[in-house]
Amino acid sequence: MSQQGTINVAVENIFPLIKKFLYSDHEIFLRELISNATDATLKLQHLARIGEAKVELGDQKIEVKIDKEAKTLHIIDQGLGMSEEEVQKYINEVAFSGAEEFLEKYKDTAKDSGIIGHFGLGFYSAFMVADKVDIITKSFKDEPAVHWSCDGSPNYTIEPADKSDFGTEIVLHISDDEQEFLEESRITELLNKYNKFMPVPIKFGTKTETLPKPEDAKEEDPAPTQEVENIINNPNPAWTKQPADLEEEDYKNFYRELYPMQFEEPLFNIHLNVDYPFNLTGILYFPKMTQDLNVQKDRIQLYQNQVYVTDNVEGIVPEFLTMLRGVIDSPDIPLNVSRSYLQADGAVKKISSYITRKVADKLKSLFNEDRAAFEEKWNDIKIVIEYGMLSEDKFFEKADKFALYPAVGGSYFTWDELIEKVKPVQTDKDDKTIILYTSNQEAQHSYINAATDRGYEVLLLDSPIVSHLMQKLETSKDKVSFVRVDADHIDNLIKKDEDQISKLSDDEKETLQKTITDTISDASYTVQVEAMSSDAAPFIITQPEFMRRMKEMQATGGGGMMGFGNMPDMYNLVVNANHELVQEIFNANSDDKKANLIKQSVDLAKLSQGLLKGEALTNFVKRSYELIK
Ligand code: ADP
Ligand code: MG
Repeated sequence: MSQQGTINVAVENIFPLIKKFLYSDHEIFLRELISNATDATLKLQHLARIGEAKVELGDQKIEVKIDKEAKTLHIIDQGLGMSEEEVQKYINEVAFSGAEEFLEKYKDTAKDSGIIGHFGLGFYSAFMVADKVDIITKSFKDEPAVHWSCDGSPNYTIEPADKSDFGTEIVLHISDDEQEFLEESRITELLNKYNKFMPVPIKFGTKTETLPKPEDAKEEDPAPTQEVENIINNPNPAWTKQPADLEEEDYKNFYRELYPMQFEEPLFNIHLNVDYPFNLTGILYFPKMTQDLNVQKDRIQLYQNQVYVTDNVEGIVPEFLTMLRGVIDSPDIPLNVSRSYLQADGAVKKISSYITRKVADKLKSLFNEDRAAFEEKWNDIKIVIEYGMLSEDKFFEKADKFALYPAVGGSYFTWDELIEKVKPVQTDKDDKTIILYTSNQEAQHSYINAATDRGYEVLLLDSPIVSHLMQKLETSKDKVSFVRVDADHIDNLIKKDEDQISKLSDDEKETLQKTITDTISDASYTVQVEAMSSDAAPFIITQPEFMRRMKEMQATGGGGMMGFGNMPDMYNLVVNANHELVQEIFNANSDDKKANLIKQSVDLAKLSQGLLKGEALTNFVKRSYELIK
């Protein structure tokens, strides 16, 4: 007996709305339908287990099939199926009201581009790509099979069907402007994206498998092959297993499965597994980081019960950890909401701080268990840790125990070790501990030497956000100050009480200062004549710490003081009044000779800093030849 009916339409004609609202996300229909097929399969397995379904289950799977001629796409499951009554209830009423409710919600947030996923639209998302949808289904209970059909208007028909096995087949008559969903490559792409780790095997066509050659085969004989079912998913991905059941190798294999195009091995992984007060599983990987802060394309993927949702985890995972890779799976993350709502959600906040804590604990245990290995990895992980210390106070507290400060000699200090080491030697007359660092061992070579000769420790801090971190450390720690080795001449880097006796009087120093300023006539250099030890260099160019750091901070975003980014580079030209050459310049008997000596000396100082270029360099070479003639 065939019957017709009208779906109860509260929102006037829901189908055009579905098409219109969800335009850009049409592809999710397949995820929805396969999710339903999976639910139906798992439900039947459950009923069989508890003895409510007396059926032979066998190896249940889901099949996806394209019929190019009929222009149909089929999703076939061996799940619990539906009786006629159940179709009425679940498809005409429940599915419809689910879709309706979804659209109501969606309308409010449609302007908010931050929507993630579209779970909840469910079965009716099929009408985003199909003119007509058939359901052919037979319940596992002894009930006749039914055929439901709907052409995208609110009208449907329902009639008996001849189907002898329990389960459901959904047939989509793909509409003219959605023909891409009849392409094998497109469907493969979608199955790989959304269903790669779903819990029921999914078959899509067949593939050719190479078999071992028989014993008596000749060298030139091709290996035999056979056509086998093409199962596109791994129903038991590593993150669904217990950490105790997994070896290091299993984690690495899963990484390759997740990112087939990544050839670099991850540094280490963190297995997430909680069920109270929220449910979350997952595996995060620390990849090798580069200096490059650009967002990478392989990102953390968010799943719900093994169904892929998105790889945009902003708001769920703290920002500094979005540089990691891996999977998190949680049914407790609301999906049909805007990002701003998400960030205020209590459960999501808890998830975010749980992840932060787990990552910090893992790093701490790696540090404790094998410090040498941790030091070896430091260069690759420091950006994440430094970024975390800057952005999350909780993480800062924990990381303070394992964050490392490498020194130019090759040793690594924790903060406490560093302070213990440098405090006795590097505390200035105001009782501030001065931490010296270099950002470039090559370019700042002579300054580093001068400092290490004094017995100072010089750190090598070269990550792009380190200027922000120094700022943070200076404010959260007591009486410390970071100074780059080329920020001043060695006697001034760490000011002690003892003053050098000057060979020039104050008046003489002033005269010399004027002469040099006039001779070089360059506004970006400030000339300072100072009494230093006679074996220190005669002319040194330094770049004051404050200005330079503010500029760096602005260049890497946030922090720093507004306006510094556009300032030209400023330098100090420090002249050692006690050096023989400076004495000679001061006492030179002709103005010409004086000017020549000054120019030559300043150029040498610039040269050692890589600051001598263009015409100035040409003049310097010319002048040098004159001098050695
Ligand atoms: P949801 O999956 O969130 O319940 P859907 O709109 O996707 O919403 O589906 C509505 C209902 O239709 C399901 O709850 C289920 O009862 C029924 N249903 C859909 N697809 C199938 C299927 N393949 N086999 C059995 N029942 C199904
Ligand atoms: Mg569903």
